[in-house]
Amino acid sequence: MNQLTLQWVEAGQVKTYTVADQQQSGKPSGSTRIGRDPVRCNLVLTHPTVSGLHVEIFYDPQRGGFYLRNLRDSNPPVVDRQKLTEGDVMLRQGTSIYLGQVELQVTAIATRVANTVVVPPPVATTAPALLVEEPTASQAGSAYGLRCPRCHQISPYERLSLGCPWCGTSLAAAISVLMVPGEK
Ligand SMILES: [Zn+2]
Repeated sequence: MNQLTLQWVEAGQVKTYTVADQQQSGKPSGSTRIGRDPVRCNLVLTHPTVSGLHVEIFYDPQRGGFYLRNLRDSNPPVVDRQKLTEGDVMLRQGTSIYLGQVELQVTAIATRVANTVVVPPPVATTAPALLVEEPTASQAGSAYGLRCPRCHQISPYERLSLGCPWCGTSLAAAISVLMVPGEK
């Protein structure tokens, strides 16, 4: 249930009225109509500067908020010091509404948060085999080999203390090279 609370002063008394999005009042369009005429209005203000049927407040689920619509060509409401001559305006907490000389204040708005945001599942990669993996430390180590200073064959780094597997030369003076697949 979405609710908006209006507060105003009438005959020296602070009054409040709660507008809910599910009005059970039987008034048309499910909105809260405000004015001087008790037949057409849910919220009746007796001040003579208020029009018979002045404005309506309704909850718009599409826009997710409460709106005030002007129902009068003349005597437009003033919402936050702006004359609302046509259309509607979103109401926020603290919004000031003047109907004639009567000021209504929006003191509270409680809206139900629509829990309709669906987070899509992570998209499975279509070609995981093509992913280039960051080499781990051990992989990085084995990516290097030793180029024999004599026969120029490249042998694994582990051969450092054993010597060249092809010619037996010590690899102590061998050049460390990047091992290319196929050259092993
Ligand atoms: Zn060698």
